[in-house]
Amino acid sequence: MIEKDSIISRFVSYVTIDTQSDENSSSTPSTQKQWNLARKLHQELIEFGLKDATMDDNGYIMATLPATANTVVPTIGFIAHYDTTPDFTGTDVKPQIIEKYEGGDIVLNEDLDIILSPDDFEDLLAYKSQTLITTDGTTLLGADDKAGITEIMEAAKYLINHPEIKHGPIRIGFTPDEEIGRGAHKFDVEKFGAEWAYTMDGSQIGELEFENFNAASVKVFVKGKSVHPGYAKGKMINSIHIAQDFISSLPRLETPEHTSGREGFFHLNGIHGDVEETVLEYILRDHNKEHFEARKEVLNNLALEINSQYGLELVTLEIKDQYFNMREKIEPVMHIVELAEKAMRAVYVKPIIKPIRGGTDGSQLSFMGLPCPNIFAGGHNFHGRFEYVPVESMIKATEVIIKITELAAKK
Ligand SMILES: [Zn+2]
Repeated sequence: MIEKDSIISRFVSYVTIDTQSDENSSSTPSTQKQWNLARKLHQELIEFGLKDATMDDNGYIMATLPATANTVVPTIGFIAHYDTTPDFTGTDVKPQIIEKYEGGDIVLNEDLDIILSPDDFEDLLAYKSQTLITTDGTTLLGADDKAGITEIMEAAKYLINHPEIKHGPIRIGFTPDEEIGRGAHKFDVEKFGAEWAYTMDGSQIGELEFENFNAASVKVFVKGKSVHPGYAKGKMINSIHIAQDFISSLPRLETPEHTSGREGFFHLNGIHGDVEETVLEYILRDHNKEHFEARKEVLNNLALEINSQYGLELVTLEIKDQYFNMREKIEPVMHIVELAEKAMRAVYVKPIIKPIRGGTDGSQLSFMGLPCPNIFAGGHNFHGRFEYVPVESMIKATEVIIKITELAAKK
């Protein structure tokens, strides 16, 4: 079936190219070095014989695997991102391959005493006797999302070599800058031309996601009035203290460290200020749209309350929606989730369906008119030195892609 060696060597060839994105850059891709992998992927698709493979000025890569079925089958897409997070270095990744993992500690780096242990990451124990790819402890791995790219490429190669598998037109899309929230921004949904798609960007084997947070960022500007502290009585307004009141008026338990599942939160992730002005930076998250809007109301009301207390407009808010729960766009086309579930079961993978406590490119794409659930790519411990991926999970993800294309043509 899927060749293990081919998966490993392809994956290694991608992760050893540094593609860290940068949120402080306004170009697309946000970093020049992402082009190094983008060009390689574009070239490989051309070498596969995919004649319409394109790479646009923003580094978005698209290609079509032509249909082999004689019947009319909807066009389905598979999407992955080639950048890695700005949170941890992706320079000089040295993947280590652990054959037949025995279930104990893995020494990532002897000199620096960095150990990947099931004591800290018990998920490891699910992969006994499998082949793991890890880092050397000094960088991230980049399985997020080069595992996804590898799987899409290997599935394409397999389908090209097996024209007896009947499928409709398959669109492939690779994007830059997902990790800084911009992967979908310049994605040309019309050009992509798929009826629906899947991002191959989930974590552990079996993950299938079509629900994510509604998300907004909020800046709270608190104005004060600076007066010489010796003569300040009845005159000074210290914006720091007002900001403190604002913070402590919000429910302390509705924060990331106290919530899970479908519970939303207010997250204060930045504060800077002096007597004259304090700025609080929040993010709001909630799967439920009404609760999400209610959270904004809570902040608005709090600002009003403080302002009326002082009789001055001291607190102003700047609320920006970031992304929305894709569920409302997926529910009308639930058959696309059911198809993925069926494909997983057909290759003996148990679907794990749960709401994402974050966003994906797929949620933005879903609102841009391309319904796009997320499927596992196989990796664990994203965005850090303990990132690893079982090769067997990548093989399964590849099989899931192939099976989806096959089942879609059978209906
Ligand atoms: Zn990702």
